[in-house]
Amino acid sequence: MATHDIWNPWHGCHKVSAGCRNCYMFQLDAQRGVTMPSTVVHRTQEFDKPLKKDRHGDFKIKAGERIRVNMTSDTFVEEADEWRDEMWDIIRRRCDVVFYILTKRPERIAGHLPADWGEGYENVILHITTENQNMFNRRWPVFEAIPAKHKGLTLAPLLGPIDLGPALESGQIEQVECGGENYANPRPCDVAWVYDIAAQCLKHTTNFCWYESGTDLRWHGRPLRNLPWKTEQSRFAFLAGTNRKHHDVRFRLFDPVYHRELDDDELYHPRYNDSRCLFCASRMICNGCNGSDHCPKDLRFVPVEELERIEAGKHDEMMRWFHSGEHWIRTKA
Ligand code: SF4
Ligand code: SF4
Repeated sequence: MATHDIWNPWHGCHKVSAGCRNCYMFQLDAQRGVTMPSTVVHRTQEFDKPLKKDRHGDFKIKAGERIRVNMTSDTFVEEADEWRDEMWDIIRRRCDVVFYILTKRPERIAGHLPADWGEGYENVILHITTENQNMFNRRWPVFEAIPAKHKGLTLAPLLGPIDLGPALESGQIEQVECGGENYANPRPCDVAWVYDIAAQCLKHTTNFCWYESGTDLRWHGRPLRNLPWKTEQSRFAFLAGTNRKHHDVRFRLFDPVYHRELDDDELYHPRYNDSRCLFCASRMICNGCNGSDHCPKDLRFVPVEELERIEAGKHDEMMRWFHSGEHWIRTKA
């Protein structure tokens, strides 16, 4: 995910389930030499980022952009209770922007929604993480009872096979996102689990995105590949061919001043660069490229249709890479 997709009004967290064991926030804090313990939840400097304007008086985050909230914390973590109403206020004021809110604490959602939530905000999609069957069985019934205009599931880090039946059959879930584990001591991700989950989503015509494979890839329990680089993980997931977008998740967005519903042609449309984005599995769920995240200097922005044409021309070559194992580090048996 590019950094312009992300808004972290607070940072820090404490672990609640198996999926948290190797939480990347703790690892990245350690790599960066952050002295404050990662378990100390604190407001960040970018608390009001969605309200920031440029020198022309326009919002820096454009109408129609999709922003991921609290990717280095949990929106419903206990320590953030005192700031959450301010967060909701910002989300309410930016009724022209889509906010993606992910939590491992669905039991804390109902008690911490804004007073005017009703059936949900039009510009918010709520996701829960269900990293294995046990967590799915515990979290889904709680999440099912929460009113929301848009809901999804995130299976990350995927730690085992999951039967998503009750959630997909409920008709509430618009998208399922899935990723393997990264960084230090990654636990295996079995491609067979992913294919099975993708098939469940296909059966229910639910959008599915396997955005990165994780480092330690297995096939029916047997070591398959070790992919330490995220770019290769993303390419692997893309070429595995499991991702399906059956429909656009449509958000009703409104002008923040006049509260008039915005037309599609008034909204931000992601653009992509014709090298880094070409075989990136996150394309389905990201906010597009603004050239700020380690992109090559000679990048060229193209709309998704043109990117798909370029991709088609290189697809055979990439599939040869996918099947040959070239560049992949083989895992010791
Ligand atoms: S809930 Fe999320 S941010 Fe918090 S420890 Fe677990 S993985 Fe990390
Ligand atoms: S598609 Fe491009 S902008 Fe989006 S996550 Fe991938 S590399 Fe980044």
